[in-house]
Amino acid sequence: MSRAEVSRMRPPLVPLGTLIGRELRNEKLEKPFLKYGQAALAKKGEDYFLIKPDCLRVPGNPSTSFSVFAIFDGHNGISAAIFAKENLLDNVLSAIPQESSREEWLQALPRALVAGFVKTDIEFQQKGETSGTTVTFVVIDDWTITVASVGDSRCILDTQGGVVSLLTVDHRLEENVEERERVTASGGEVGRLNVGPLRCWPGGLCLSRSIGDTDVGEFIVPIPHVKQVKISNAGGRLIIASDGIWDALSSDMAAKSCRGLPAELAAKLVVKEALRSRGLKDDTTCLVVDIIPCDQPVLPPTPRKKQNMLRSLLFGKKSQSFTNKSTNKLSAVGVVEELFEEGSAMLAERLGKDFPANTNSGLFRCAVCQVDQAPADGLSVNSGPFFSPASKPWEGPFLCANCRKKKDAMEGKRAGIPTVTA
Ligand SMILES: [Zn+2]
Repeated sequence: MSRAEVSRMRPPLVPLGTLIGRELRNEKLEKPFLKYGQAALAKKGEDYFLIKPDCLRVPGNPSTSFSVFAIFDGHNGISAAIFAKENLLDNVLSAIPQESSREEWLQALPRALVAGFVKTDIEFQQKGETSGTTVTFVVIDDWTITVASVGDSRCILDTQGGVVSLLTVDHRLEENVEERERVTASGGEVGRLNVGPLRCWPGGLCLSRSIGDTDVGEFIVPIPHVKQVKISNAGGRLIIASDGIWDALSSDMAAKSCRGLPAELAAKLVVKEALRSRGLKDDTTCLVVDIIPCDQPVLPPTPRKKQNMLRSLLFGKKSQSFTNKSTNKLSAVGVVEELFEEGSAMLAERLGKDFPANTNSGLFRCAVCQVDQAPADGLSVNSGPFFSPASKPWEGPFLCANCRKKKDAMEGKRAGIPTVTA
């Protein structure tokens, strides 16, 4: 079958709301079970992870449960990794409007992840400590997986179609041309020591995005790449790991090394496989999460290729702008519905145009830190000294004065943010 024929057979785009509605009406599509395991080998002791399987969207209501899995690979110290582990989830959740329906909650999540990452970075900067951390942050709500990442830890998805896909983008200067250009345009220098990977200066960091790294430069931004997908009710396996794994193993190798094994054992095997091929050169941490259709001990065996092809035609695709061309195009081959993908480093693009309605108090809510502020104290991103006559000054999002300064600093318009807030 030619590519054109395949693309003609692809079903039309389906809005998230329709999908969820369909799911609610379909009694067969029960909540999946999650099984997970973790393994790690420390070299420097800067890897941290978070496992929270029983979070609730609505306190006291078990039917609103969701799960969070995350890896934080620290550098130049451990404080940013620990700070992100302790604060990021709360900061993300506080950016989702209260009393959202499940559908609204999932739709608000990508934006809330951006707000939560930036808020956590600002709060860490205010502590005045050095160090930075990668973050790969995974939220699982039934069959919908949302991944937000900065840095070079990775999350891969191994579906029952036997297709392995990358849900993150590597923010490494060596491999990411767009990020090199952005860092240079924002005032950083990118270059190489005699040996080793490309680094940015000042600071000498190989990554272009992280939480922390106050001493490196504001062009190292905490704005995450976010991808949201919905897997079929055949289930799938996530492998979330720090670069100690990915410097040794390709996504395919990692997935294949542990197929058919329960999650706990799978995580150990992936770490062992990385160690075998490369030795212990770096902290190596691996989380394996199986999303399983019913209470089975392991995922059912992967179907043969012919079935994969058939299945691939049953799933459509809806995605937003891609910023990294090398990202796998999941839906072209897989059993995965792409709901959202965005990786821009421009904060205003990531927070949407909503401008919060003037409440009775006359205050506006900052789209990043969620602090209420009088309009005179904060500004829409389009107003102020860099106001372009073409844009509307009161078109959102609204940012408080402090978050506005952070935004300008990240874009190379101002140096640093003040350490004192209102
Ligand atoms: Zn703010």
